[in-house]
Amino acid sequence: MSAIDGLPPLREVIATHDLRAKKNLGQNFLLDLNLTARIARIAGDLSQTDVIEVGPGPGGLTRGLLAEGARKVLAIEKDSRCLPALAEIAAQYPGKLEVIEGDALKIDPLRHLTPPIAICANLPYNVGTELLVRWLTPKEWPPFWSSLTLMFQKEVAERITAQPGSKAYGRLAILSQWRAEPRIALHLPPEAFTPPPKVSSAVVHLTALPAPRFEADAATLERVVAAAFNQRRKMLRSGLKSLSPDIEDHLIAAGIKPTERAEQVPLEGFCALARSLASAT
Ligand code: SAM
Repeated sequence: MSAIDGLPPLREVIATHDLRAKKNLGQNFLLDLNLTARIARIAGDLSQTDVIEVGPGPGGLTRGLLAEGARKVLAIEKDSRCLPALAEIAAQYPGKLEVIEGDALKIDPLRHLTPPIAICANLPYNVGTELLVRWLTPKEWPPFWSSLTLMFQKEVAERITAQPGSKAYGRLAILSQWRAEPRIALHLPPEAFTPPPKVSSAVVHLTALPAPRFEADAATLERVVAAAFNQRRKMLRSGLKSLSPDIEDHLIAAGIKPTERAEQVPLEGFCALARSLASAT
């Protein structure tokens, strides 16, 4: 029995249910329940919060979230082999864990939940980045979630928190920092996972801001940022030519030198440029 919840240790769970990790599902499991409880604590006090956990697998992080007192956990898992192990956790925490089998990219879990809602996940990195971008780019703000606590490859975590002037600065930094407050909360070496991935990882915590830091239309800002960083080596006056025939005037109106490169422009500059472009259409 494990110290945190009276359920068997995760190695035993994996052996009992024959949950050998599958590469195509990005399965690198966390088996240390002290570590999963620590990740759950990064999400903050969850006693009055419903948590969406994406990709619970054998349930290490799920158990961490429940042991740390989450009001409810809704877990979405694509691999049906994991469901019996997750059912055992649900039995240990009556009424607190609901499991949905399916692809998190296709499921809308909202009707199962009551705000405030936090999201917590150790996902395959490609799925994690796609979901992060979706969670950061709804039309309306504030979003349905109050915080995200997500595992990423270390380099992706650095792109989320990067500042202007660094190589890592780009679309992810701007989308993350425009309407949320991201920070790297924990670094994890490959050996923290079973099997160990090739890369180091980091847990990023993002808190939703009540309103965007600077005014801008979301779709215009996304268009500007995508175009600017698509050609990050070019001066903005040529890299952004496709956005407007008067791009130099818009850059100057936004306080950006037309000869600058995207990497040097702070978030505030991109928002001013999006406003200038939106006002001309
Ligand atoms: N949370 C567990 C842990 O920390 O040990 C498992 C993490 S493992 C990196 C990723 C999990 O996400 C796997 O259980 C995998 O089956 C699941 N998964 C992969 N793609 C998914 C998707 N599109 N929707 C839901 N779950 C997915």
